[in-house]
Order: sequence, then C-alpha cells, then structure tokens
Amino acid sequence: MLLIQNYLNGQLVPPLAGRYLDNIEPATGQVYGQLPDSGPDDVAAAVAAAEAALPAWRALPAEERGRMLVKIADLIDANLERLAQAESQDNGKPLSLARVMDIPRAASNFHFFGTAAEHFATEAHMQEGIALNYTVRHPIGVVGCISPWNLPLYLFTWKIAPALAVGCCVVAKPSEITPATAFLLSELCMEAGLPPGVLNIIHGTGPGCGQAIVEHPGIKAISFTGGTATGRHLARTAAPMFKKLSLELGGKNPNLVFADCDLAAAVATSIRSSFANQGQICLCGSRIFIERPVYEAFKTEFLQQLQAQKIGDPLAADTKQGALVSQAHLHKVLGYIELAHEEGGRLLAGGKRVTVPGRCAEGYFLEPTVFENLPHDCRTNQEEIFGPVVTLTPFDTEEEVIAWANSTDYGLSATIWTTNLTRAHRVAQALHSGIVWVNTWLHRDLRTPFGGMKNSGVGREGGLEALRFFTEAQNVCVKF
Ligand code: NAD
Repeated sequence: MLLIQNYLNGQLVPPLAGRYLDNIEPATGQVYGQLPDSGPDDVAAAVAAAEAALPAWRALPAEERGRMLVKIADLIDANLERLAQAESQDNGKPLSLARVMDIPRAASNFHFFGTAAEHFATEAHMQEGIALNYTVRHPIGVVGCISPWNLPLYLFTWKIAPALAVGCCVVAKPSEITPATAFLLSELCMEAGLPPGVLNIIHGTGPGCGQAIVEHPGIKAISFTGGTATGRHLARTAAPMFKKLSLELGGKNPNLVFADCDLAAAVATSIRSSFANQGQICLCGSRIFIERPVYEAFKTEFLQQLQAQKIGDPLAADTKQGALVSQAHLHKVLGYIELAHEEGGRLLAGGKRVTVPGRCAEGYFLEPTVFENLPHDCRTNQEEIFGPVVTLTPFDTEEEVIAWANSTDYGLSATIWTTNLTRAHRVAQALHSGIVWVNTWLHRDLRTPFGGMKNSGVGREGGLEALRFFTEAQNVCVKF
C-alpha cells in the first residue's frame, strides 16, 4: 500500500485531522493506497510555512534559485522509470507514454524555468533628458497551484516551476485522483535540499482542500488547471479578494483536414491527437472535419490504423490504450456515447467497455470510439467528453469549416492539415483558439504562450507569460 503524506515545511507529515482517502488503480479498479484528506487547517499550516520561507527564498539571486530547480529536474530524470511506473499505475495511462511524455516533460519544466529566471530582465524606458522609468517585477508572494488528473506530474510542475523560479513560495494541490507522482516529487525536493516551506504539497479533495487554498487570504495568486465549471466556481471565490488568477480549462478542439494535405501524416497524427492518453488530454482534437474529396480516404485509413491501438494492461510494452482514470469518468464517457447514438450518430468503431483479462479484469477500459453523421451543433460536438471519442464530419468550404470550428463555447487548441501555406495562415488567424498547430500536434516549445480563449480559460502559461503571472510589476519613474 502506498501511503501518501503531505509535504509541509520540508517534512512529510500526516494530515492534521488524521483522515485519509482511498487511492484506486484505474487498470485494476482496486484500492492500492491512501492519501491525506486534508482540510483548511493543513492549508493554513502550509501557508504559514510558505510565508516564513518567503523572505529568504525571494532574496536569493535568481541564479541560485535556478540551480535548485535544475537539480530537481536532474533528479526527475534520474528517477524517470520509478516516476513513470507510478504515473501509469495511478492514472491508467500506458507506461510507454509516461516514459516519453509525462515525466521527461515534467523534468524539462523545472529545467526550462530554472534557467529562464536568469534571463528575466528588468525593463527600462528612457525619456531622453527628462526621466527614466524602470519596471521591477517582484515575486507576488505565496501562491496556490491546483492541477488535474490527466497529466499529473507534467501539469503540476508546469505551474510550480515558474512560481519558484521568480521567488514565490508555493502551496500546491495535485488532483486527489492522481496524487502519487506529486508525493514522489516531495521526496525529490527533500533530496535536492529545497529549503523548508518553499514548496508545500497538500493532498485532498477540491471542496475540502482546494477551496481552502483559494479562500486563504495569504495566497496572492492562483494558477489552476481543470474543468470549466470548477474554474467558474474558483473565479467567484477569488475575484472579490482581488487575487490574480490563471485558469486553464476545458476544450472541444477542432481538427481541420483539407484535401491538399499530406493525408498519411494527417491520419497518423490524428490517431494520436484523438486517442493519446485515452483521449484525456485537454488538447486532443475530438471534432475531425475533413474536406469532402478526401473524406472517404481519410475515414478508411483512420479506421484501419485504429486497429493497431491495442487496449491492455498499461504496464505492458505493446499497450497503446490504457484505462480511463476512474469509474465515474468511464460512466460519464459511456453516457456521451449513448447520447451520440440518440443524436443520430453512425458508429464506425468502438463504443463499448472492454474487459482486459487477468489482473486488469475490473479496470476501466473503453474502446476508442468513432462516430460520423452528427451535425456540428449537436451536444456530442459541442460538449467536452474528455475521453476516446471523436466524430468525423465532411465539409465543403473553408468558410463553413471555420464557422463550425468556432461554434463551441471553447477555444483552447486547433489543428490544421494543409500544404497550402497561405491557407494555413489565413485559417489560423480566423480560428478562435489560443493554440493553433499546422501539420503537427502537441509540438512543444516552452517559450510560447499556452492557454485558451472563451470558456477554455483566462490568462496564458508558458515562457515569459508564466514568469510575469507570478510577479507584481512596479514602475519607478526617476526625473533627471
Ligand atoms: P477538476 O476541475 O474536477 O479538478 C481540477 C483540480 O481542481 C483538482 O485538483 C480538484 O481537486 C480541484 N478542485 C475541484 N474543486 C475545487 C474547488 N472548489 N476549489 C479548488 N480546487 C478544486 O478537473 P479534472 O476532472 O481533474 O480535470 C479534467 C479537466 O481539466 C478537463 O475539463 C480538461 O479539459 C481540463 N484540463 C485543461 C487543461 C488546459 O491546459 N487547459 C489541461 C488539462 C486538463
């Protein structure tokens, strides 16, 4: 049994009230560990520890803070296998995916922001002969970082690393559904010698622990990734307290395939963008719009390649589709499959729960599912499913597909497949998405702004945007 503890003031400690939650392995449906069911008292202790650590941490030269973060990055790299195993067991994702995506990207988060802090310069504006303005960016103070279950360590570190880099101290909460790698990170921070209180990791539910972080007056900014409804609730609490908020929320991302594209590349990448991590990536393209002349060719090849998506034990080397994260989530996705049938969708593949024999017989496995014949404005094509379910829809004109792509309340990411460069630029500008990929998907450059428009969020993470978010700008005007 994995017994997870809070990381508070540099120590691993039990929750103050002594209550624990069960941690379930999605591939087996069995309880395999416990995590603290922390409450406001644990959060208050974490904020106090962070406040005590803040003066010394913010006073360190950026280079020294950066060195510490790079040390943590190196430790994540050195423990890649252990962390990948833990992520796979906790989340249900294939171990092979955690090895090449989740854990290396978590390490690069620490590495990138550790070194970026040194390049984060003060801006100056000279009014010749009159005055000099310079803008100092002070760390905002103690901040809260709250993350979801789909890319546990990857998204957790994406928030924590820039906050620490600029000199903030952090109270962080991973999802109660996937707490394991955050716990292992606590151990690595202790090994690295991170000063006590600089980072505190408190485990628990959203209402019990997350809410206490958002409400605490000592928390000056909140970086949150999760569902749109939770984000809305968070904003209601934090806005009257004038806390800075960064919200990375849901998506319903379009994937636009034009007839002039490299069809082989479009199909192969669309298989990944539809079903990687069982479709549980906020950037997955769940609405695939295909220009009519290549519709049948795309569909045939897509369904053919789908057969290679072997469903199985996430720990097995040849598994491409692991388990969905929880029983509740499996039932939510199955509910959407039922809805797609009711709305007149024609099932082309999948649609059913799968029993994987052996140790995974009780796991939450689902076939990758493809529908066609659904209008762009039906609920299946408007609401976030966040599972391995996609729709194929033919289109005739560029105007039509842009209107359909933009027709949801979301605006996180979009992918365009075309070899026509002019069209690529034109369509990209017309899409209401914070992130647009052309002839690629999930391509990463940590310097770029990351985030969504409309109900997909407020603010941007990544690069300078993240460093700025965790700081307070102060302008000093000196008259000559
Ligand atoms: P969720 O909103 O249920 O939970 C996210 C986190 O918020 C968890 O840690 C949870 O405990 C916490 N939380 C819940 N209620 C809270 C409250 N009242 N106060 C404070 N914290 C609270 O989301 P989830 O189900 O874990 O994740 C899936 C969602 O995340 C999807 O909608 C997905 O699109 C979104 N997501 C977005 C991005 C992005 O970058 N835009 C990335 C990954 C996931």
